[in-house]
Amino acid sequence: MENTVALDFLGDLQRTHTCGELRPADEGKHVLLMGWVHRRRDHGGVIFVDLRDREGITQVVFHQDVDTAVHNRAEEVRPEYVVAIEGRVAHRGPAAVNPNLATGAVEVVASKIWLLNESRTPPFPMEEQVDVSEDVRLKYRYVDLRRPHMQRNIMLRSKVSFATREFLYSQGFLEIETPFMTRSTPEGARDYLVPSRVQPGSFYALPQSPQIFKQLLMVSGFEKYFQIVRCFRDEDLRADRQPEFTQIDLEMSFPQQERIYEVIEPMVQRICEAAGVRVHYPFPRLTYAEAMRSYGSDKPDLRIPPMHPVEDLAAELANAGMPLVAIHIPGIGAPSRKERDELKAFGQERGLRVYDDVKRLERDYPYQIDQVRQRCGAREDDLLILATWAGQPQGHRPEETVYLACGQLRLYCAQKFNDRHKLLDGRNFKFLWVVDFPMFEWDEEENRWNAAHHPFTSVHDEDLDKLTSDPARCRAKSYDIVLNGVELGSGSIRIHRRDVQSRVFAALGFTDEEARRRFGFLLDALEYGAPPHGGIALGLDRLVMILAGETSIRDVIPFPKTARGTDLMCDAPAPVPERQLRELGISFRSTGK
Ligand code: ASP
Repeated sequence: MENTVALDFLGDLQRTHTCGELRPADEGKHVLLMGWVHRRRDHGGVIFVDLRDREGITQVVFHQDVDTAVHNRAEEVRPEYVVAIEGRVAHRGPAAVNPNLATGAVEVVASKIWLLNESRTPPFPMEEQVDVSEDVRLKYRYVDLRRPHMQRNIMLRSKVSFATREFLYSQGFLEIETPFMTRSTPEGARDYLVPSRVQPGSFYALPQSPQIFKQLLMVSGFEKYFQIVRCFRDEDLRADRQPEFTQIDLEMSFPQQERIYEVIEPMVQRICEAAGVRVHYPFPRLTYAEAMRSYGSDKPDLRIPPMHPVEDLAAELANAGMPLVAIHIPGIGAPSRKERDELKAFGQERGLRVYDDVKRLERDYPYQIDQVRQRCGAREDDLLILATWAGQPQGHRPEETVYLACGQLRLYCAQKFNDRHKLLDGRNFKFLWVVDFPMFEWDEEENRWNAAHHPFTSVHDEDLDKLTSDPARCRAKSYDIVLNGVELGSGSIRIHRRDVQSRVFAALGFTDEEARRRFGFLLDALEYGAPPHGGIALGLDRLVMILAGETSIRDVIPFPKTARGTDLMCDAPAPVPERQLRELGISFRSTGK
């Protein structure tokens, strides 16, 4: 690009303040600011430039009658030019004070301006209110990141990382790195692979988490480990997923579950404080079974009241032997016929029989419905619906299938009527622990049990005998931390004994050979004095997303991928030259598609 204006050299001048710093107390000071031209307004004889850097915006004013040459130079600046401005700090007149800006009571009366660089017309305006297509934002991410709300998000992310480190260091944790080029780890997603040039045909896997390494660090005696670490999972992407994401990962030796909570709760409090949010602990705890029964979810949103199983009160409405669930959302007034039809259809699509007309039920079952109302604490103008399973019981824990569907219906109702009850307030932070997850989940496709967390998770001592006889009812020593319906993190007390690990592998249907092939080095390590240990990992991206009031983790990751896993700015993934493939011993077979 040819320059369209003559640029200036600044020499060795230094800036004196940031663009967010000046206050009335600075009146009269001579200052030198540098930044981007956020906006320029020409008022015939007076030019206002809003100068922006990451700390804020300062208004600069150029008067033609004070210095015509400087004023004329200011006429040349356009949005996103980089400039330096020298001037004197002045009070704005009372009518001109801008209460929305931290610097809004002052302005800088310019005596000099340097044009340090020009800018093409930006692909979109810097104004926060302007809706810009995400593809364009991602292609010009360096410009997008300059927008004030993105600057706030990324700075918040940095504060959160710092608060995490500061807190964990104060608790005696060591920050220790683990490899990115390794072999498959056990989180159950597909791996990203890196071909080896020196061993053609062999691949490293990028870690889905540092799980095995952090356990090995406990075997090595480091006792308290943490890392703010990138993890890689090749999964189908959703709004809150990225192929690479960041975890606050930690592990401790000799902890009971309580000890993990004792570390995480104040850490989360400290992180929230860094974001200007006050939270109190201890966080409530629910067992997985309670969470399912009361919220139909293993990540309950506590901002909405629980559901209540009521088959004991109105057995005649329940499908034989199946739960009957009351869903109650306060303060929405009577839903319209159309709204009720929509709720009903939503439930039916998920296998439920939905009683959407409580008024009618009340006529036929006045006593029962009165009891239901009392149990839920539901008043006349609250939404109350009942649901049970419509067909045959399904799955290994059939009651769960019903609760899950009811939980979805509950969330659907809450979201649908949020503008009336306003329960889903993003500034209301409801943390909780969900504990005692089932040890295993049935994998329909593979027709076998899978580890619900990962295969190194301890089983409850009293369920050890059920590992093979009743796997569906074995509970794990595992815990999730949940915030407003989002799973923020998971962890567990690990298996530290070789014999127990073998039994769990057997329950998962791994042959000895298979277990050895995949995790042999961990199994060996367990034979060299592995201490009891346990830990947890929290999703940093999700946490920052919620604290920033965003709904997509892409808005808190500097350089994220699209839902199709591409980086639109640097155009990755991309084909590589044939020569590189040859070096790696790779050639492509046609897939015949
Ligand atoms: N590695 C686990 C995960 O990524 C967390 C843990 O068990 O500490 O979910």
